[in-house]
Amino acid sequence: MERWQVERLLRGDYFGAGVEPPLHGPEVWRGLNEQLQRRCNEELVRRGYTGFRHLLHPEFSALLLNVPVLDRIPTGVIDECTDGETIYFEPCADVRIEGGRIGHGLSHVLFSRWQGDHNETDAWHFTGEIFLPSRLALSLRSSRAAALIQPAAPSWLLDAQFEGALARFWRAAQ
Ligand SMILES: [Zn+2]
Repeated sequence: MERWQVERLLRGDYFGAGVEPPLHGPEVWRGLNEQLQRRCNEELVRRGYTGFRHLLHPEFSALLLNVPVLDRIPTGVIDECTDGETIYFEPCADVRIEGGRIGHGLSHVLFSRWQGDHNETDAWHFTGEIFLPSRLALSLRSSRAAALIQPAAPSWLLDAQFEGALARFWRAAQ
């Protein structure tokens, strides 16, 4: 999917992005991310890392959750792909771009593992939650702050997730 499509999709403009609407609602993407955070925290405690409160790099989350991550992609694939269990990504010198690829792969694998059916739009929404949970986005003044606390995602993705989270919040409040 093109970057401009992901930007529109995360803001909730599925028609403008030219993509299918998600199969699941925000509560499912948020619930999956809460499950991800909880399981990672449990694993961190089990390994003796107490008081670890940073937003985790998706490759670290994958390690904690036993999701294999390989820095190579099959011929013909762009950026990343998964086979439902393993994340394959194309390495990139830009850590935000690389993190974005791994986070999106993680989203597909965990969606399959914990929820089952999902489409590309669901996977991008869960990717947005992994990098910037909606609840956290609502507590920030700007997406600039999101880029400071989340060094593993492209800033354009954080901008779109930030605005999407705010838009959903206001729609729900009406
Ligand atoms: Zn995808």
